[in-house]
This record gives sequence, C-alpha cells and structure tokens, in this order.
Amino acid sequence: MSDCIFCKIVEGEIPSTIVYEDDAVVAFEDLNPQMPVHTLVVPKKHYDNIGDGIPDTELGAVFNAANKVAAMKGIAESGYRVIVNTNDDAQQSVHHLHVHVLGGAPMNSGSPALDEAD
Ligand code: 5GP
Ligand code: ZN
Repeated sequence: MSDCIFCKIVEGEIPSTIVYEDDAVVAFEDLNPQMPVHTLVVPKKHYDNIGDGIPDTELGAVFNAANKVAAMKGIAESGYRVIVNTNDDAQQSVHHLHVHVLGGAPMNSGSPALDEAD
C-alpha cells in the first residue's frame, strides 16, 4: 500500500531502527516508546489488522518474532506484553498489522484503557 507508513518502513523508504528481520517480518523500535523496551513487529506483507485474513504461518511468524525480540532485549524471562491494537475502540492508529513488544519494567495488572475511561 503506497500510503502506509509501515510498508514504507519495510521497504526502507522511511528510516527506522530495525532490530530483527527475516523472510516474513521486520521488527523496529517504536518512535514514541511507552516502556524501556517498546519494539514493533510487522509482517512484511500489508494486512490492515489481525482480522484481515492473515495466513496462520504469517501470523505465527509475527508472534515467534515477538519472542525473539524479547529474548534479544533480555526481557523474555523477566516478562513482557505483546499488544495488538485492532480498530477504533482499541485506538489502532497505523492500519498495517503490528504487535507491540513492551517490557523492561514491572507493569500494572488490569486494563489501562478501562482505568483511563473512569
Ligand atoms: P497503534 O496505536 O496503531 O497500535 O500503534 C502505532 C505505533 O506506531 C505507535 O506506538 C507509534 O508510536 C508508532 N509509530 C507511528 N509512526 C511511526 C513511525 O514512523 N516510525 C516508528 N518507528 N514508529 C511509528
Ligand atoms: Zn502497510
């Protein structure tokens, strides 16, 4: 998709700090990190979101890469979250499937979104 930011990152047309890449995915640092570790993993092929008919192998590649990133960052054992915002209520702002890998410090339990809505 010509106007997709993450397609442009995959193609190298927009600079990013890439931390992992294989045939199916690219992982790069989030521009606006919310945690000491905040890396995004995206499929190289464009899908709008997790509901976009993604083949199992490709979805599996994204999640396996998320764990590889966590291991590379040294947070696989201490713990991390993988978050996939999907559509408007979840505030998905970039409509190219991506998983957030977040960690490096203790996180609250519960739902931050619901807490903020109160
Ligand atoms: P969403 O809210 O869609 O789940 O998350 C999109 C994420 O992409 C945000 O955390 C935002 O900081 C990140 N982001 C948006 N534009 C860029 C960009 O051009 N480069 C990088 N590295 N991250 C971006
Ligand atoms: Zn895209």
